[in-house]
Amino acid sequence: MASKVRAGVVLPAAYALVRDARFAMLDMVLERDRWSLDEIRAHQAERLTSLFRVCREHNPYWSAKFTEFGVNPNGSDPFTELAKLPLLTKDEIRANWKRMRSTHLSKSDVVHETSSGSTGMQINFYQSRIYRQMHAAMEYRSRAWMGVRPGEPYISIQAHGAHMTRKTRIFRGARAWLENGYILDAFHLDPAKMREQLIQARKLKPVHVHGYSTSCMTVAEFARDAGLTDWPSVRAVSTTSEQQTPQHRKILGEVFGAQVYDRYGSREVLSISMQCPEGGHHIYSDVNFVEFAPVSEVGGDLNAIVVTPLDNEAMPLFRYRGGDEAAPIEGPCKCGRVLPLMTGCRGRVCNNFITPDGRIVNGTYFLYYFYYQEGFKSYQFHQTTPEHIDLYVVPDGKLSQERHDYLKASCRKISDDYQSQFNVDLHIVDSIPKRPGGKHLYTISDVLRHI
Ligand SMILES: [Zn+2]
Repeated sequence: MASKVRAGVVLPAAYALVRDARFAMLDMVLERDRWSLDEIRAHQAERLTSLFRVCREHNPYWSAKFTEFGVNPNGSDPFTELAKLPLLTKDEIRANWKRMRSTHLSKSDVVHETSSGSTGMQINFYQSRIYRQMHAAMEYRSRAWMGVRPGEPYISIQAHGAHMTRKTRIFRGARAWLENGYILDAFHLDPAKMREQLIQARKLKPVHVHGYSTSCMTVAEFARDAGLTDWPSVRAVSTTSEQQTPQHRKILGEVFGAQVYDRYGSREVLSISMQCPEGGHHIYSDVNFVEFAPVSEVGGDLNAIVVTPLDNEAMPLFRYRGGDEAAPIEGPCKCGRVLPLMTGCRGRVCNNFITPDGRIVNGTYFLYYFYYQEGFKSYQFHQTTPEHIDLYVVPDGKLSQERHDYLKASCRKISDDYQSQFNVDLHIVDSIPKRPGGKHLYTISDVLRHI
């Protein structure tokens, strides 16, 4: 009953109060699950044309690109027009992000992800508020696929502390309270407290457990070893942000006694695919136009995932290659949904680190230091002993003093965030060797391994 009141009254009212349209848009995105392929295609065409026109009028960067590559915003086949554009790389965004913002939206309608705290982190993309709210609605849509309704209790294993401003932390806390959620901080999973935390969380009768793949796995393993394997209320476990392996799937399913789902999205492109109860990874084609491009460095059976989000007018990304890999799958899914299928995604693989006093740190914590930073080509954090981390950085050209200072400050901040339990040594290098299999790892721990 309580969750029905939350879902039907409290949550919509609270979000409406802060002029957040996520609930207003929820019915709209749920309705799309019933669209035919033709309806999806027609919607994509309409959105692409609309984005082209917005860019021609209000986005000098893309308008110049259209001229350069002969894209006609009013062409009769927008898919043909889109295909004239080359793939958009991260390097191109890095070099041009300030000029890639559309000019027609007011400052208050655009979110610029920017510095959090004193680290000087820059995040160089813009999203319209309405795009972000729509993807909050998409989040509820994904939960609906798992049989989870808004307002039902959940456990979220996510970043909740480091790299966050006080305001964000308060907002997240308030949101969890409103939504009946229990947050475990993926950057500080503390075995000394986890038993008590899990018992506390279980009292909420959570129906859904979600978070980073490796952190969910850490919690599940802890729960199993502590004998906390009785989770009758949990209906679904979903992981995101990191590659979900068959082993994750197995352990999570066993410990929580629930179906396990894999969700895929990124910071720049929020909802890309969602797994259905039959195990098919469906592409949310009503919000993205997704292509699979053969790219020489990918190889094997997989292709580069290339995404054109259809609703972010603040900074349109046409044919964006985010760096993840998958392959399309032909044919229908047993679940009856017509949204197209792809394989699971070969994406980020993170080693988790462990502090000398036993806290487990999701590798994403370290990645934050380099999100959208300029001046660096590559990097790697390597934990060699419980107390020691080597940070290897390949500069992009000559390393400026300011960039060097940023790296030194980051090393100090890591140490501070974990009460000086880590010593972090900075090494400026020309290259970083790839791992067997050719994959670059951003975080490696010789002390705690998850892959
Ligand atoms: Zn399906």
